[in-house]
Amino acid sequence: MSRNVKSPTVQDLLRLDAIAKHLKIRSRYEDPTFAPDVRAACLARITPILKEHGPFTGENIAQCLGDELCLTFEEVHGPHDVTKLENHYLKGKKEIGFAQLRGELDNPGTDALLFQRLNAEPGAPDSWVAVLNLQGGRSKAYWNKFHELSHRIAEPPQKILPFRRHQFEASNPVEALVDSVASDVAFYEPVFRPLVETYAKTCRLNFEAIEQIRNEYAPTASLLATMKAVVNYWPHPAVALTAEYRGRKNSPGTDLALRVSPQGYNAHANRIGLLIYPNMRAPIGSIIHQAYLTKDDQNALENLGKWETSSGDTLLGIEVYTSARRINERVYAVLSV
Ligand SMILES: [Zn+2]
Repeated sequence: MSRNVKSPTVQDLLRLDAIAKHLKIRSRYEDPTFAPDVRAACLARITPILKEHGPFTGENIAQCLGDELCLTFEEVHGPHDVTKLENHYLKGKKEIGFAQLRGELDNPGTDALLFQRLNAEPGAPDSWVAVLNLQGGRSKAYWNKFHELSHRIAEPPQKILPFRRHQFEASNPVEALVDSVASDVAFYEPVFRPLVETYAKTCRLNFEAIEQIRNEYAPTASLLATMKAVVNYWPHPAVALTAEYRGRKNSPGTDLALRVSPQGYNAHANRIGLLIYPNMRAPIGSIIHQAYLTKDDQNALENLGKWETSSGDTLLGIEVYTSARRINERVYAVLSV
């Protein structure tokens, strides 16, 4: 899990404890093995289901697990969808939790709401309803489906609460844990790793390959989520990062430059010490800069020894192949050895 996760509140601890009991694992939140144990137990729960129905794409996996876990997905693109859901669940099925739908979705920070229906017949396919808030765009739809599925896989039923609200909160220990489960399920290793390895035999790690893998596996996944997953399973050292024009971390108005945020390293990168410092400047000569300036995809070899921190330290002088793509004000980049 991320190092920026906050200490759990009492309520978080109760939920984390309930997760451990629900998944029948012995470790507790304080143990270093807790997160890996939770991820392994969640994968063990879904593997027999997916084995029975495979082979799969990412979208098939979401559908299959939704069916198995009695979870229906509903998408909200605008106010008309809210009215439709109120008519269906609140007026039609007398689910009082949906009385709060409109108010909750007015908060742009709400990514999704997970309802546990109180009047559902046992085994009804919509016993749980995940409402995805896509009013700000579709890019998070794929990820949020798996986030909600992961709550269902990892947590026991909510009992009294008619719904839970979910927004991107990487610092919350429960949400960070659920997101780590979601990354395992959304890019399911037995299917996704062989696909990435097939591409790695003939392609460099670049955005053309990432797009092709996305189209084959999960066309609705976001570029960021796919890029991180491809890097994770790439069979050679690789790192994913993004870059934006901004100032220093503690002084946002100072030293404005194109600064990077590491988004993930694979195990091979960790082994050779491939490391990019958060918020360091992408050098003017880097193709990350070129992609930012030209707005065209850029691919080239470069030496990380030219990357310098403001205190004058340089990165390890590793030669990497960099691929960079600018979308709006952000550059996405993958570096591989
Ligand atoms: Zn959540």
